[in-house]
Parts: sequence; C-alpha cells; structure tokens
Amino acid sequence: MGGTFDPPHTGHLLAASDAVDHLALDRLVFIPAAQQPLKQHQEAAPAGHRLRMLQVMTQGDARFSVDEIEIQRTGLSFTVETLEEYARRLPDSERFLLLGADAFALLDQWRDPARVVSLAHVVVLTRASAAGAPPDERALEDVIARVRAIGGPGASAPRVIPTRRVDVSSTEIRARVRAGRPIRGFVTDAVASYIESNGLYR
Ligand code: ATP
Ligand code: MG
Repeated sequence: MGGTFDPPHTGHLLAASDAVDHLALDRLVFIPAAQQPLKQHQEAAPAGHRLRMLQVMTQGDARFSVDEIEIQRTGLSFTVETLEEYARRLPDSERFLLLGADAFALLDQWRDPARVVSLAHVVVLTRASAAGAPPDERALEDVIARVRAIGGPGASAPRVIPTRRVDVSSTEIRARVRAGRPIRGFVTDAVASYIESNGLYR
C-alpha cells in the first residue's frame, strides 16, 4: 500500500486492516513515496517525517511493516519501479497492490500502467455500507473493465474488496492542525504526539 502518508491516519489503518483480513495477507507493507509524481505541485512534509509517522503508527503490530525503498531511491516515486524490485526480491510471492478508489481512478495516468497490473494483483478498497457487505456491483464491473483495458486480455482480474472507508483524509488533518484544532481520533495517539512534538503542519 503506497501513498504520501502526509500524515498517515486511521482511514489508512482500518483499510489496511480490512485488506489483511479479506485477502488473508501474510504481510502488508506501507510504502511512503519520496515524491508522488501526481502531487508534484503540492508541498509535502519531508520524507523522513512521513516515514517515522508510519513507523510509529504500525509499531508492535506484526501485520504491518514499512519499507523505505522509494525514499531511498529518491526523486519521483514510480510504483512500477517498486513493483519490479519486489518481483526480484520475492519472485515466488503473490503480490497485491492496494489502492483506494480515488488512487485507482488515476491509474491510467501512472507510468507504465500495463506493467503495473502485470506485476501485482490490483486490489481496490471500496467503501462498503456495512463491514462485510459486498461491494457495489457496478463499481466492481467498472474496475474490472478498466484494468482489462489497461493490461490487455492477459491481465489478471483485479479484486475489489469492501472496507470501511473512513471519511478522513490527510488533507483534512493538515488543515485541522493549521487551524489549531484537535486531531485525536483522526490519527493514532503516537502519530498525534509525533506531529505535535515536531511542529508539523503549523
Ligand atoms: P491527501 O488528502 O493528502 O491526498 P490521503 O488521505 O488521500 O491524503 P494518501 O497518502 O493520498 O492519503 O493515500 C494513500 C492511499 O490510501 C491511497 O491509495 C488512497 O486511496 C488510500 N486512502 C486514503 N484515505 C483513505 C481512507 N480514508 N480509507 C481508505 N483508503 C484511503
Ligand atoms: Mg489522497
């Protein structure tokens, strides 16, 4: 699961937790981007802070890990390069690329989307009305058609899994901090302390 994570929040955490359950994942890796190519015009907190916040959010939870691969590569973070590296590192693994519906909507603007869908099963995290309820059929068909269009007839069918998509975004959290409003419940307590002690987003 990649992203800017500026900051990581409970929406990310609950979606990740649902993905682990639905897909019976052995491990879920959060991968913060050094620089998100589609967010170049936007200012982001330094990568080291975004990485540390993911680490404190997931610390002590055996389901999750955080990989610095994109931060170490520096420059623009292209998911296709990260997936190529994972295919080299873990050639026998079954790999899933977890995307929120908003991120999925931009997939055809990414670098080499056909290669992306050939390197991992695309999983779209859609909002379910109730936990465990099936995702909306039309959303599912749209996703399948789009991935097929990107990857060609050989592309593996993407999965759409229902998650509780908590209506929280990093954008809203940054705005709350800037306005001096509390963010308790939007992020974990450890992340809130990190933001405060490092004076982020003021
Ligand atoms: P911003 O508001 O700065 O865009 P964000 O909250 O959307 O931040 P990102 O870092 O852009 O967070 O998102 C990383 C990944 O997590 C993307 O795939 C995105 O679709 C997904 N995501 C973001 N917020 C949620 C949420 N509340 N529930 C489920 N998935 C989410
Ligand atoms: Mg976003």
